[in-house]
Amino acid sequence: MVEANKALRADKLTAVKGMNDVLAPESAAWEWLEAKVRALMARYAYRNIRTPIVEPTALFVRGLGEVTDIVEKEMYSFEDRLNGEALTLRPECTAGVVRAVVQHSMLYDGGKRLYYMGPMFRHERPQRGRYRQFHQIGAEVLGFPGAEVDAELILLADALWRELGLTGIRLELNSLGQPAERLAHRTALVAHLEKNVAGLDSDAIRRMHTNPLRVLDTKNPAMAEIVETAPRLLDFLGDSSWAHFDALRAILDANQLAYTINPRLVRGMDYYNLTVFEFITDRLGSQGTICGGGRYDYLVEQIGGKPAPAVGWALGVERVLELVREEGRTPAPVVAEFYAIVPDTSAVPFAMKALQMLRSAGRSVQMHAASGEAMGSMKAQFKKADASGARFALVFGADEVAHGSVTVKPLRECDGEQTTHTIMNLLAWAQTLQSNA
Ligand code: ATP
Ligand code: MG
Repeated sequence: MVEANKALRADKLTAVKGMNDVLAPESAAWEWLEAKVRALMARYAYRNIRTPIVEPTALFVRGLGEVTDIVEKEMYSFEDRLNGEALTLRPECTAGVVRAVVQHSMLYDGGKRLYYMGPMFRHERPQRGRYRQFHQIGAEVLGFPGAEVDAELILLADALWRELGLTGIRLELNSLGQPAERLAHRTALVAHLEKNVAGLDSDAIRRMHTNPLRVLDTKNPAMAEIVETAPRLLDFLGDSSWAHFDALRAILDANQLAYTINPRLVRGMDYYNLTVFEFITDRLGSQGTICGGGRYDYLVEQIGGKPAPAVGWALGVERVLELVREEGRTPAPVVAEFYAIVPDTSAVPFAMKALQMLRSAGRSVQMHAASGEAMGSMKAQFKKADASGARFALVFGADEVAHGSVTVKPLRECDGEQTTHTIMNLLAWAQTLQSNA
């Protein structure tokens, strides 16, 4: 018995603001999504990678760019009190994957197709679809320069939406060209921003000369007009950038994957070049971007590796799952097949031995764990068994236990009458069951 001790009871501790617990039955939707992703990644021959949640702060400052929302105001950075290292909770995973690829010389024998799942951390204002700990699933392909890899990644994401039963997701595409093209565009963009300086917010004014492209990524509606009339990067692309963009579009067209070209799409990190894209839904309010990505051919070099092209995307798990809910696609809750009813504590050792046998044969069993007063009457236990959603109750009554057997009572109409089995026969009988899932 756990005795309540009022004098010792401390104030309740709660989770950090913007960081959420995922509880059952909602966690079943997470497992469902993760299983779908694993199966799909296997079909595209992508391999799993797991990198640390904490990385050196320099990795993100160098990788994402100093003048970006994430690095300027969203990172959980701290000094390790024990050795003074500057560390950061990862705000995204591309930089970490690239660091790992470089550190382990993973490209020595050719390109790699990788995927990850896990928590990311950004100090943002918590609201629907925006949290301080959130989760991403991402795919990264390193070592291949061609547009067919960009296309493969986009087709992979699109296949995932179909696997999840999601509709009404649109794809927006743009090309950010190459550094020299960006430089020419930058001059024109700065001139445009200077001309309209009266309409810029303080962030934009600060960034106008340090990182003017970031101004186009603003979420401030008051600046929409200035962004809309800004010079378009697409008008500065040379032949080879256009060739890459056209090759990507030809593959998407051949696969009947619809997209719109959004010349304003620039994404939030500095590492992108050529292809950028987002998958967007109108059903989640203003947090409608569920997945974003693009090519980042210079990041490997920037993080200290031998130059290698790369491209990838990341999706927001919370947003995708909210869309799943919006579409009424809630996956079935996980229930055990059997619920064990043990009316007397003396039967517990025998019952638990039988349950272990069932479980090692691959069956799922929930035990009515209670002894003494908390055990409840047979009737109360049956009620629990029924509420658990299990298909059968296993009754370990005194009679049954005396004969080394157990009574199986169907809890659902379609399964007919109750039967009694010795423990040895129970296994064989369970094997004959048709799945009624
Ligand atoms: P937004 O423009 O909404 O801030 P972002 O461009 O910062 O998104 P990315 O860095 O591209 O987002 O991350 C990819 C995906 O991760 C986003 O499309 C979104 O689905 C998800 N995501 C990003 N930040 C958050 C957050 N704070 N909470 C929940 N999901 C997020
Ligand atoms: Mg953001």
